[in-house]
Amino acid sequence: MGNSTIRDHSLWQSGMLKIDWARDHMPVLGRIREVFAEKQPLKGHRVAMSIHLEAKTACLAITLQQSGAEVFLTGSNPLSTQDDVAAAVATMGVEVHAWHGATHEEYFDHLNKVLDCKPTLVLDDGGDLVGLLHSSRSDLAEGVLGGCEETTTGVIRLRALAAEGRLRFPMLAVNDARSKHLFDNRYGTGQSAWDGIMRTTNLVVAGKTAVVAGYGWCGRGIAMRARGLGARVIVTEVDAVKANEALMDGFAVMPMREAVKHADFVVTATGCKDVVTEEHIDNLKDGAVLANAGHFDVEISKPVLQSRAVSCTRVRGNIDEYKLRDGRKVYLLAEGRLVNLAAGDGHPVEIMDMSFALQALCLEYLALQESRLDPCVMPVPAEIDNRVAALRLEALGIEIDALSQDQIRYMSKS
Ligand code: NAD
Ligand code: SAH
Repeated sequence: MGNSTIRDHSLWQSGMLKIDWARDHMPVLGRIREVFAEKQPLKGHRVAMSIHLEAKTACLAITLQQSGAEVFLTGSNPLSTQDDVAAAVATMGVEVHAWHGATHEEYFDHLNKVLDCKPTLVLDDGGDLVGLLHSSRSDLAEGVLGGCEETTTGVIRLRALAAEGRLRFPMLAVNDARSKHLFDNRYGTGQSAWDGIMRTTNLVVAGKTAVVAGYGWCGRGIAMRARGLGARVIVTEVDAVKANEALMDGFAVMPMREAVKHADFVVTATGCKDVVTEEHIDNLKDGAVLANAGHFDVEISKPVLQSRAVSCTRVRGNIDEYKLRDGRKVYLLAEGRLVNLAAGDGHPVEIMDMSFALQALCLEYLALQESRLDPCVMPVPAEIDNRVAALRLEALGIEIDALSQDQIRYMSKS
């Protein structure tokens, strides 16, 4: 679209190939697109999207556009935008404002440009877009019917806004739907974090020690896949129940200050900050690889790394070598940003098929309300969650049993 601000329009053909591949492997979203193209549930809506701008996201944007909406798209992380995909989706009637490697100012400029459309619906990943609608762009909040949040940290930020009584419009917590976090956070991050680490470093995982920080949905997946790759796995936690779960799943559990002494790889997935900081960096093994799979680039403390290092050198794409004063070298991947997205293509296509099918159905749900719902953080309606799971089974040709009326009565008896 003419008003897009992207890196290079001439890259569109390569982006189109990526989009074609993704679309052909997203049957659930494809089914929804067919129905929406006929029903036009988003007609008259302007959708502002901030979500990792790569091929699967392009398929979602196109689905929304074919459902009648005008779509305005930016990324949700300055390093995950793929410029060729941005160019391709901009040729398809979506207004795009994003480029790979945007500075902090450019990143927020792109978010603001997307908001200039005066959205009626918003789709956010991590809360930056909705954050602006509650600060410098709060004049636009009144016109927003509602929106959807894709990730754990974004939902936490929304709940904090709601608890302060400041949330201005309803937000569906897509992350919390069963068809989302059970698959996306666990199997998606489990596979794509290691994909990002392996394609970036070209190092072997088998026989090494991987430390996984956080045993939530993402951490469980990352630990599970590390074991499958042949690593010894140590989990660090702050929650005693999750620590017990990791133990019973067969992993070693210890504090980070002990774990780093063994680590060949440290992968953080907590949503917290300073998970790897002074005392950990001081005890890391020579050659340790540090990667983050959680929200934002604060889990591994870059300021501390910088203060402890005598030099920082880009030794390979997406790898910074920090040479410490005592001669040890440690490697930080993708500047401490989400390794699967900043140094890879993010989650596999079939995973995003489910997550984005939820997003499309949730936006339809908001658009079909007769009046605006109360401003609160809402769960995804169970019918939508179940429908996405059922559509996925249907696409795979897998049937399951159904409860008989007699069984339903039996299961609901006191
Ligand atoms: P979760 O709440 O299920 O798990 C987080 C876990 O980290 C919890 O068990 C918590 O106790 C633990 N934790 C918190 N602080 C810690 C600390 N200092 N040290 C050790 N453990 C700590 O959340 P989740 O769904 O697993 O998401 C984790 C993060 O990953 C979030 O920021 C989320 O937004 C992000 N995320 C990333 C991707 C991706 O593609 N990379 C996908 C989904 C979610
Ligand atoms: N702005 C935050 C966003 C957190 S990203 C940040 O950059 O730190 C976490 C979300 O990325 C997950 O909930 C997941 O659904 C989404 N994601 C993972 N792979 C993706 C992909 N290939 N395309 C689009 N989104 C993806």
